Amino acid sequence: MKRESIPLLDFLKEAKGKILILTHENPDGDALGSAMALYLFLKKVGKDVTVGCKDKIPHFLDFIPHSEEVISIPDGKFYDIGIIVDSAGFYRAGTEVKVATRIRIDHHVGGEFYGRYDYIDPKSPATAALIYELISAWDETKIDADIATCIYAGLATDTGFFKYSNTNEYTFELAKKLVHYGADPNYVYRMFSERESINKMKLIAKVLETLTLYEDGLVAGITIFDRFFRETGTEYSDSEGLVNYPRSIEGVEVAFALIEKPDEGIWKVSLRSKVNADVSKIAERLGGGGHKYASGAKIKANSHKEALDKLLSEIRKQLELQKIHH
Ligand code: 5GP
Ligand code: MN
Repeated sequence: MKRESIPLLDFLKEAKGKILILTHENPDGDALGSAMALYLFLKKVGKDVTVGCKDKIPHFLDFIPHSEEVISIPDGKFYDIGIIVDSAGFYRAGTEVKVATRIRIDHHVGGEFYGRYDYIDPKSPATAALIYELISAWDETKIDADIATCIYAGLATDTGFFKYSNTNEYTFELAKKLVHYGADPNYVYRMFSERESINKMKLIAKVLETLTLYEDGLVAGITIFDRFFRETGTEYSDSEGLVNYPRSIEGVEVAFALIEKPDEGIWKVSLRSKVNADVSKIAERLGGGGHKYASGAKIKANSHKEALDKLLSEIRKQLELQKIHH
């Protein structure tokens, strides 16, 4: 994972203009943690830097240090350099931004490429790990407790708190360094996992009612209808993580959550795999992307049945291609 040289490092050291760091819409811990760590570091080394996101910071991420400094985009301003993190391309920002030079820092497979300053490594457990490599190669002494906490939050999110298959020696070595610089694992865990609302529990109850098995139990899915949010006083960001319920069932290889988004006229799908299935292939055929074990897409459909049929047919295709059966 350690790089001999990172072209982006030399580019940023020399950079003079206005820099905008972006996360994808509906940011998760890796997207926001990565963006904030880079933002805080670049500020410390004296760069003119702004961090932006289309959506407001959800409650489960509001503990990320200085996250109140994230601006809402589009802001109508012009930036010399735009850096999108943890995203397959600028389209994942979910809105237009005015930037002269585009750069991507990411660990997704495929996606858009903007040139030699992109810093993309699909083998990295989290985008936040790439941010660590970049800034530690620049000036490790500037990594303070806030920056370490941001990176730790990203690493913890994408490894499922150090239990997914991207958890290895490197992951723990990085975690050790971050704890050394002041990240507090128990604090980050409590912020992510022990601040739920009673309304979220009511949402989970409704969502679990929709849990269904397909393909002889190889596939499990839930549906989150828009009315569930209204009925329980929750919002879209409360759907984060619910796809882990169908994945937790024995024998399931592919799990999904189908989330109704009537404002966009689409159904958002979150896909998860346990061991063998490559869900990024399913997501790609639906116009989305991601990783082998976690990916997502937006499905255009006029009804739940239409969205579900499209999704199940792509899942089936992938199971057949990979010859996955009981
Ligand atoms: P989630 O299911 O948690 O929203 O996302 C899982 C993974 O898939 C993340 O790495 C995320 O960036 C990626 N992903 C989710 N939705 C989309 C999408 O619509 N397009 C692309 N390219 N990737 C997505
Ligand atoms: Mn990530």
